[in-house]
Amino acid sequence: MARLVMKFGGTSVANVERIRNVARHVKREVEAGHQVAVVVSAMSGKTNELVAWCRETAVLHDAREYDAIVASGEQVTSGLLAIALQDMGISARSWQGWQLPISTDDAHGAARILDVNGEEIIKRFEDGEVAVIAGFQGMHLPSGRLTTLGRGGSDTSAVAVAAGIKADRCDIYTDVDGVYTTDPRIVPKAKRMDKIAFEEMLEMASLGAKVLQVRSVELAMVHKVRTFVRSSFTDPDAPELKTAGDPPGTLICDEEEIVESEVVTGIAFARDEAQVSIRRVPDKPGIAARVFVPLAEANINVDMIVQNISAEGFTDITFTVPTTDFERAKVALADVHDDIGYESIEGATDVVKISVIGIGMRSHAGVAARAFQALSERGINIRAISTSEIKISVLIDAAYTELAVRTLHSVYGLDAA
Ligand code: ADP
Ligand code: ASP
Ligand code: MG
Repeated sequence: MARLVMKFGGTSVANVERIRNVARHVKREVEAGHQVAVVVSAMSGKTNELVAWCRETAVLHDAREYDAIVASGEQVTSGLLAIALQDMGISARSWQGWQLPISTDDAHGAARILDVNGEEIIKRFEDGEVAVIAGFQGMHLPSGRLTTLGRGGSDTSAVAVAAGIKADRCDIYTDVDGVYTTDPRIVPKAKRMDKIAFEEMLEMASLGAKVLQVRSVELAMVHKVRTFVRSSFTDPDAPELKTAGDPPGTLICDEEEIVESEVVTGIAFARDEAQVSIRRVPDKPGIAARVFVPLAEANINVDMIVQNISAEGFTDITFTVPTTDFERAKVALADVHDDIGYESIEGATDVVKISVIGIGMRSHAGVAARAFQALSERGINIRAISTSEIKISVLIDAAYTELAVRTLHSVYGLDAA
């Protein structure tokens, strides 16, 4: 007997028929003798609809009320799945974040989980009851208010619950059968990986691969939760899922568990960054601080930064910010124009950041050069570059997203035969 967390994303619970399909997956594990806690997302599209309603009501709205509204999607699916399970003769009970509770800080809209109280559901495991937990939501205990964890947050709920109840495994069921070398919807030749190291998955997720929320990978790494990404679109009663063999999927694990590792593991891309360029900035000590301190004070995250070699005492500075903060960044810089003394600010939102990721880069030279060469052969201009020990990112025109991702995917030998 094992203790399992099974998480199902939006497309897996998109309608009542799919919720029944999910219930059959759960039934299979219960009948195999396991203790099961399920974490569900809202039906696909539901959270977007709720977010849009908030904006429609008032562009600038109270974040506490936003949370009260957007958390409702998961309330519906958790209840429906509990009913579907009961209908199949499985004892089940739904749980909202506040009922366990799953306690969080008060960063409404992007709250962090502080603790998961699994006492009651563990007690009920003894009687064979399945817990169906609403993902994405928690509660700030001191204020008693509902919180949500940021988009894609049900993954994080699942891993946190797994850590909280000391589960043997956290299965993330989604609409693809694992983590691929890049988004399989963009590159049909992408390959599924059997295993990927925590650090690489962390980079993939934070650089745009939305298959797992970044925070869920961090939690899995810290709490050593065995996290396995797999498909909910398989036949729940397929004989191979009932035997001991490993189902298709990707295990997120320690680097040491991976026997053969490639120099490059995967390619990720993110369309949600915008470019800001400040032209003809006087090149003197303290200028970077004068540009970036106002942005930090406005709580704007700056990502890639490029500064040109100065000519005649002036230089250009280019950097990226989240697209949602683009207008605010320009306003913050306009406010300090007289202090900095730059000529103009330019910007672009039709850009994409493409990243090449791999632990093997630590010990191999020339990885970046190959990317630059391949992109130049395709006539793709690079606007900015940033690197770290295990990744290289380039900012290019969004129109070239697919071409660039496919080119890099094949250059590093990631294409399936
Ligand atoms: P869920 O609703 O189950 O949480 P998401 O839509 O959040 O599902 O995440 C799954 C999607 O992530 C896939 O449909 C796929 O298009 C996308 N994706 C992006 N990069 C990758 C990758 N490297 N491997 C697998 N899927 C990826
Ligand atoms: N329903 C939430 C969202 O769409 C959480 C999730 O799906 O993980 O962001
Ligand atoms: Mg998701």
